[in-house]
Amino acid sequence: MVDKRRTRKLNDADAGQGPVLYWMNRSQRAHDNWALLYAQEVAKERGVGLMVVFSMFAVPGRSNVRMYDFMVGGLKEVQETLEKKNVTFVLLEGRAEETLPDFIEKESVGELVVDFSPLRGPRKTRSTLARQLSCRVTEVDAHNTVPCWEASDKKEFAAYTFRPKIHKKYKEFSGELPALQKHPHTHRLQTKVSNDWEKAVSKLELDDSVKPVDWITPGYKAAMKQLEDFMSNKLSSYDTDRNDPNKDALSCMSPYLHFGQISAGRVLSEIDSKRGIQMDAKNAYIEELLVRGELSENFCFYTEDYDKVSGAHEWAQKTIEEHKNDKREYLYTKKEFEEAKTHDELWNAMQVQMVTEGKMHGWCRMYWAKKILEWTKSNQEAIDIALYLNDKYELDGFDANGVVGVMWSICGVHDRAWNERDVFGKIRYMNFAGAKRKFDVQAYIDRYDNQETLFN
Ligand code: FAD
Repeated sequence: MVDKRRTRKLNDADAGQGPVLYWMNRSQRAHDNWALLYAQEVAKERGVGLMVVFSMFAVPGRSNVRMYDFMVGGLKEVQETLEKKNVTFVLLEGRAEETLPDFIEKESVGELVVDFSPLRGPRKTRSTLARQLSCRVTEVDAHNTVPCWEASDKKEFAAYTFRPKIHKKYKEFSGELPALQKHPHTHRLQTKVSNDWEKAVSKLELDDSVKPVDWITPGYKAAMKQLEDFMSNKLSSYDTDRNDPNKDALSCMSPYLHFGQISAGRVLSEIDSKRGIQMDAKNAYIEELLVRGELSENFCFYTEDYDKVSGAHEWAQKTIEEHKNDKREYLYTKKEFEEAKTHDELWNAMQVQMVTEGKMHGWCRMYWAKKILEWTKSNQEAIDIALYLNDKYELDGFDANGVVGVMWSICGVHDRAWNERDVFGKIRYMNFAGAKRKFDVQAYIDRYDNQETLFN
């Protein structure tokens, strides 16, 4: 049974007699997916068929070949798995608000199940659909191990206020991850569908200057393989090596988690049960995935203006205001940042890593965003440029973790006040000398010293 606390009704409509439809959007997987499991549970109770729909669209100027290559690779595997489980998979072309109402009417859907997201755009789409549709619409948080609204009922101040709550709730919500069953009832589609991925993608307006990457393979199976490799070869030194960008010490789970190709609950359960690993290493990983990851969701869920200076703590807004006219030693445009044309070779190397590989090292992301704050006219301009670049090039972009990473770096979100200095005010400062104390900066720069050819 799916714990009902994972679900929320988005409208007052009753469930009808027709099939149950799960609009898969954020949690793009057939395994360990509470939204899909809930949809199957209610479909079985009512003795009806189960369908999963994916609505494919692109946002010109924001969508690119890199992200669609990774996403579609994962979705093809989902389709294959679902069809073996007698779950009808349908690829629709267009935005959900445009495609779902007609499809739901034609198929006489009795209940629509949707994924949870704390971000503005997806939340608006879900509430529009819930208002528009006459069938029941149920939202399920399949992304977080503890449903966002259960982890805390308010915006948390910092990790130390959230940590005890999430650990306590995690004990309640972790445990068995049930498998999807072969669905006993078949739905005969009224709509003609071809599920032709190549054709659907070819019609989209995608930015092809952001190229696919080949160091990561999309899909659940590849995610599990990557996780096993991490646990066998890297987890034991995660606590000591994770902040060295020259070491291959991270799990690289973020693209999989972002597209929902693997669940955080599965990753945590595998890490928890892995034998022969020191608790310090496991705890360091759990701190990032469970505490930091779900704290990001909490921030976006409870903060209307989560990507604005006005979304920061009061102390941070005050110090930002007090330092807004401080003289900046360097100022760069968005284009100069994007093309890695700053005076700082380390920063340029980080930018090149992100542009070419689609994943900047976690420690570098902090330095990278803090320098954007230092070299722009205002904190808001810095937020906008950092999110623009992050979401354009990172495979894990457009995520609550990205919003909070940027807001932590530029506006002190979840952080405390530090010694006051020019431009930064009381926001934590990071510099080149600090980076040099942490790792071999020159070795990192040498690895990504190709910006001349990249942008010309
Ligand atoms: P690992 O170190 O192996 O961590 C495992 C998992 O823990 C990650 O996949 C992620 O889910 C979670 N995690 C790790 N660090 C953090 C963190 N600081 N905050 C929240 N969760 C964390 N993460 C994204 O998923 N998408 C983004 O767009 C993104 N942008 C960022 C931008 C900035 C400026 C900063 C400072 C951080 C950003 N992060 C983002 C958070 C973090 O850097 C990445 O999650 C991490 O580097 C992903 O690599 P990994 O999976 O190999 O990490």
